Amino acid sequence: MKSELVAAPAMLGMLGGGQLGRFFVIAAHEMGYQVTVLDPSKDSPAGKIADVHLCAAYDDATALAEMAKTCAAITTEFENVPAETLETLAEKTTVKPAAASVAVAQHRVLEKNFIKEAGLPVAPFAVVKSESDLPADDSDLYPAILKVARFGYDGKGQARVKNKAEALAAFADFKQSECVLEKMMSLDLEVSVVLVRDAQGEVMSFPTVENQHLNGILDISIAPARCSDIVKARAQGLAKKLAEALDYVGVLAVEFFVVGQDILVNEIAPRPHNSGHYTIDGCVTNQFEQQVRALVGLPLGSTDLHSKSVMVNILGDSWLDGAEPAWQKAFAHANVKLHLYGKPEARKGRKMGHFTVIDKDQKAALNTALITRGELNIGL
Ligand code: ADP
Ligand code: MG
Repeated sequence: MKSELVAAPAMLGMLGGGQLGRFFVIAAHEMGYQVTVLDPSKDSPAGKIADVHLCAAYDDATALAEMAKTCAAITTEFENVPAETLETLAEKTTVKPAAASVAVAQHRVLEKNFIKEAGLPVAPFAVVKSESDLPADDSDLYPAILKVARFGYDGKGQARVKNKAEALAAFADFKQSECVLEKMMSLDLEVSVVLVRDAQGEVMSFPTVENQHLNGILDISIAPARCSDIVKARAQGLAKKLAEALDYVGVLAVEFFVVGQDILVNEIAPRPHNSGHYTIDGCVTNQFEQQVRALVGLPLGSTDLHSKSVMVNILGDSWLDGAEPAWQKAFAHANVKLHLYGKPEARKGRKMGHFTVIDKDQKAALNTALITRGELNIGL
């Protein structure tokens, strides 16, 4: 991998045109760079604001050749970009993170085995390739969650099962594609760590953030997490260890389950993460600027949290009666920062935007977040 400095106003490449890509484009523009986005949809949030939008599939040879020719460095916002695409591009230009790191996050079995082999704790699980891999009712794994190995996100491709009969039915629903059957843990808390690692191996981590999910989708992130310093520090240490084991370069997110004093790795994302959106308003450098910095070979920025932050996701459900939510209610709060992703169509469960409350006081931030979500009719 080449790692010399790519100076502005170079053209950078982004694989994926979702909201994460959009924030990358914004950060790159602020820093004087241009961005080419590859995304197959006409109306993608990042494609709309990019300097160049290549509207093509992630394995389109012509589009990839164009990207390799015109982009000085390329990254991704979407872990399901084929690893071969990253490999092909890396033959011609700088690509971070490396295809091998992304490939680990693309497949739950590879991911869990990698985490275990790196010596980090995970919830008990079994690999399910065929019906005969599903354990009998007396297994300790039940109650469990059956998760498809590939292409699951936001709780999609997951089923909660109490016994073998339910597991068999869910496996059939998933068309018998490879799965992991994971023991349902009794979670005290979920936290995550977003970090950035540069080509020299320097790591800068954002604070451990607390995440609350609704129906398998992130709902609220609270920074810093409301848990003991020991748990927070252990999450930081485990995330760093994983980044090093992967020899990772770029922004990496690691999700954890907290069970008593134990902390288990849930999953990793080879990109900025929804639970790091609070860094846009709450930190000296946000996760997307760090992504640009790591990609172009600039020194990493400060990850200091300057304000207590609470981020609330806004899903398409808030539009379901057809009307646009009353955004002026959010703008009426001086310390609420609204971010909308410019998606043309609001669908149930689709991430349309978020807002972050920043405050000196964590309880006040939480309180304003709850009031604002009530005013916007979010998640009620
Ligand atoms: P996704 O790729 O959809 O984010 P996750 O594996 O992170 O998939 O699961 C989504 C959410 O479902 C988790 O954040 C957690 O709230 C819940 N969940 C997943 N696995 C378990 C488990 N083994 N025990 C308890 N809750 C779980
Ligand atoms: Mg997750």
